[in-house]
Parts: sequence; structure tokens; C-alpha cells
Amino acid sequence: MPTTTVPTQGDAVPTAAAPKPRKVPRVVILGGGTVGLYTARRLRKRLGKREAAIVVVDPRPYMTYAPFLPEAAAGSIDARNVVAPHRRALKGVDVLQGKVSHINHAERTVEITPEEGDAYWITYDHLVVGLGSVARTLPIPGLAEEAIGFKNVEEAIAVRNHVLNRIDVASSTWDPELRKRMLTFVFVGGGFAGIEALAEVEDMARVAVKYYKAIEQDELRFVLVEGSPRILPEVSEELGGYTLEQLRKRAIEIHLSTFLSSCVGGHVVLSNKVEFDAETIVWTAGVKANPVLKNSDLPLDQMGRVTCNAALQVVDADGNVVPDAYAAGDCAAVPDLYNPGKFCPPNAQHALREGNHLGDNLARVLRSAEVTEYKHKNIGAVASLGMYKGVAQMFGKIKVRGFPAWVLHRTYHVFAMPTVNRKLRIMAGWTGSVLLRREVVALGSLHDPRAEFRAASVAPKPRSAEPVADPTLPAIKAEEGSPAAKADAR
Ligand SMILES: Cc1cc2nc3c(=O)[nH]c(=O)nc-3n(C[C@H](O)[C@H](O)[C@H](O)COP(=O)(O)OP(=O)(O)OC[C@H]3O[C@@H](n4cnc5c(N)ncnc54)[C@H](O)[C@@H]3O)c2cc1C
Repeated sequence: MPTTTVPTQGDAVPTAAAPKPRKVPRVVILGGGTVGLYTARRLRKRLGKREAAIVVVDPRPYMTYAPFLPEAAAGSIDARNVVAPHRRALKGVDVLQGKVSHINHAERTVEITPEEGDAYWITYDHLVVGLGSVARTLPIPGLAEEAIGFKNVEEAIAVRNHVLNRIDVASSTWDPELRKRMLTFVFVGGGFAGIEALAEVEDMARVAVKYYKAIEQDELRFVLVEGSPRILPEVSEELGGYTLEQLRKRAIEIHLSTFLSSCVGGHVVLSNKVEFDAETIVWTAGVKANPVLKNSDLPLDQMGRVTCNAALQVVDADGNVVPDAYAAGDCAAVPDLYNPGKFCPPNAQHALREGNHLGDNLARVLRSAEVTEYKHKNIGAVASLGMYKGVAQMFGKIKVRGFPAWVLHRTYHVFAMPTVNRKLRIMAGWTGSVLLRREVVALGSLHDPRAEFRAASVAPKPRSAEPVADPTLPAIKAEEGSPAAKADAR
């Protein structure tokens, strides 16, 4: 395995060389997501460059604020504004773009695999693991080939473009089966991410269809598949029931206590024997800790999460602290001190606060002070269900519905969104959408931008002796029932 030195602040030491004592302790933060970004920023704020060198490792050059992904998919927020660019948000911090592929904590080294070139190892004095989670998938026939996740900005934008593009395609065909297939959209998973994604995308599709004379609103078929008997387990049954009722009123087809059995070639088969064809299958059925943690010597629980104590220090199965290692967020099992025996749920509310707490704790450690425990009482949950619609449950008791909940959702998340720059851009975008209406154009070719150039580069075929239409003949009338005829009739 090649080992290369990498130029980070404070000299990085390849494993082959004997590690030199460092003048400035190096903190390496794995993952520049919610935990990574907040830990790095807080630590930088607390300690000067002579007290700590901070390195953040992430394959992406930005942190994604996932709670805004459904709104980005719906076009209510510009995709660029739901991310905080590392180089701008992490002043005084070294950023290495690459995937962590191995962690050898005993040797205080991590292997980084960049997008191009050989993998290399860097050394550290303190390690923070904020590697987040990945979609929890199941071995369902056709799932890997046909479905798409909804965990990152690339997926959210791909879902948006795909849905709008299918509407475009459906409007140009009069094959009824093909139209049905194009206009059927399936979302699997009725947790927060799934319900928000479904509700926002459905709302956007309904707005988009208003601009298509050849498509009726009732041709859109949105389907939710959820394995448990209820949706939104994060809020009370009453509020979950209200949300269900709202979605049903919008003609969204809901299958509870039902599983996706197969989706080979886009033919969806549900465990309740319902079958249909769909071009769009979005998988939002939960997350699991980042599997790269298995390539490490850190202690993991049965769910693959790094085991921690409430001070966010990594601990072994007996509760002994593993020196110089810390973890938080979706990839860590952090005890929830307000719910003894339970762990903090994998959400941004905790990840963000854990990140700040970890930054403070590391500053304490580096100044030889005692660490403190992370303790946060859940303040509730807010969800957007499309433009001007939402549900929220605050402090366990206060239940809010409809427009006020939607305002609460936007207010809460815009404050939680990192950097003033992003907050202002998001608010400016919202104002623009209110005044000018949101944009519902599909930029489908974004996913294959070279297609047209490739086609243009192919040498033209010699012209065949095919008959050419006689311009003196009358134009062919649109076939009855075709999209063109429907458009003509209006
Ligand atoms: C659609 C959606 C909606 C959500 N809505 C809400 C909500 O309304 N409220 C709420 O509280 N929570 C919500 N969440 C959950 C919340 O976003 C996460 O719990 C939170 O982001 C977890 O933070 P994290 O730092 O642990 O992980 P992340 O923020 O995901 O960060 C992990 C980072 O690790 C990086 N990474 C991955 N693999 C590697 C590797 N091998 N090497 C280096 N870096 C790597 C990733 O690129 C990423 O930057 C939502 C999530 C989704 C997907």
C-alpha cells in the first residue's frame, strides 16, 4: 500500500518514518458534515493556530444541511444554498478532499483515498469521528438498479430533475401504459426524511403539471410504502395521524404495514399484493452507521456505531475510555442523558449540538481541563409538507399544524443552517419564489452533459433514399386522444 506524505498544516508524517513529536497537536476530524463542521469551527474559535492544528477529511468540498434537501428537491431552495463550502466555512482549518478508507487508532493514523492518485496515511494526536450514515437498504430484487436514495444534495437534485423530466416525457406520448408508468412516483419509508421528500416533491409536481395542457392532475400517482402501521414516529400518534389525513386528502396513495417486495425493471410489487409499474422509486427507509468504520480498530456496537460515553469520548465494551478518540452524530452511539438507557437519535438537532460540545471538550483537553457531558433535551420536530403546509411538535406537548408549522419549520432550520452567507441566500431565494413563483423546469441533461456533444461528434451517415414529406400535402391531424390532440382541444 503506498504511503505518501500529504501537505497539511503542521507536517504530516508518513507511517514509514518514525513519528516526530509535534509542536502543535493535530486534531484530525473524519467527515466534514454536521458534526465535522461544527466541531472544527468551535475548536478553531476556542484555540489559536499555535494551540491546535485542525484537519477535516471529506470526499465532498462542502457540508450538506440535510433537513433542507426536500425543499431543494422541490425547488424552494437553490441546491447550492443547502451546502456550506468547507474552504469558506472552515477558516484556519486544513481540508483534505478524499475518503477515509482505514483507521488505525493504535498507531494514530488514518488512510485517505483521494478521488485521483494513490491512497496515503496521515498521523494525528486526537481523532474525531463524524462520518455520518448511509442509506439502510435491503436485498430487494431490483432495488439497487431501479431506486435512488435521498441522503445528499446530488440525489435530491437528481430526484427533482427526474420527476420533472418524467412529466415532460409523459406529456409527449399517448401510450396510456407508458404515461401511467412515467407519472407514478413511489417513496419507500414514512419517517421524517421520506414524508418531507414525498410531500415536497408531490407539491412541486402538481404545480409543474399546471403548465402542461396534455396532463391532468389526476394522472399523477404518488405512492407511499411504509413497513410500520404509522408514519412519522418522531411525533405523537395524533400528529402522525393528522399528517396521514393531509396526505390522503392530496390523493397520495398510502400503504402502511406494507413492504416493497420487488421492483425489477420498474415493476413494483408490494407485500400486500398490489402491483404496478413506476419509473421513479425513492428509498428513504432509514439509515445505518457509515460502513467504513468496520475498517477501523475503534469499538463498535451491534449497529456498527462507535461506542461513546456522554462526554463524546470513545469507550470500549467495558466503558473504558479509548484515549484521544471522540465520536458524535449518526455514526456514534451517544448515551441520551435525558432518556437513561437510550441513545441520542440520529438527527441534525443532536449532531449540530454534539459538534459544538465536542469542539469545547477538545479545547478543554488541549488545555488540560476536564471534559463535560453532552446533555440535550429534544426540543421537538418540525416538518414541511409542501408550500405553506407543515406539522410540528415542540417540547413534547405543543402541536402545530398547517401554515404556522410550515413557518416554524423554515424559521428553525434557517437559523440552524451554518454560515450567515447561506442563511441570507436562502431567505433571499424564498422571497424571490413568493414574488416570482418557484421554478419547475427540468434540467435533465445535467446528468449527461456530454450527450449532445457526443452525438455531434459522430460522423454523419450517408443520406439514404428515404422519401421526403411533400410540403404541398395537408398536415397530418393529431391522432384522437394523443397529447397533441388534447392540447389542440383546449
Ligand atoms: C432528507 C433528510 C432530511 C432530514 N431532516 C432532518 C430534520 O428535519 N431534522 C433533523 O434534526 N435531522 C434531519 N435529518 C438528519 C440529519 O441530517 C443527520 O442526522 C445529520 O446530518 C447527521 O450529522 P453527521 O455529522 O453525523 O452526518 P453528516 O452530516 O451526514 O456528515 C457525514 C460526513 O461524512 C462524510 N463522509 C462519508 N464517508 C466518508 C469517508 N469515507 N471519509 C470521509 N468523509 C466521509 C460525508 O461526505 C459527510 O460530509 C435529515 C436527513 C435527511 C437525509
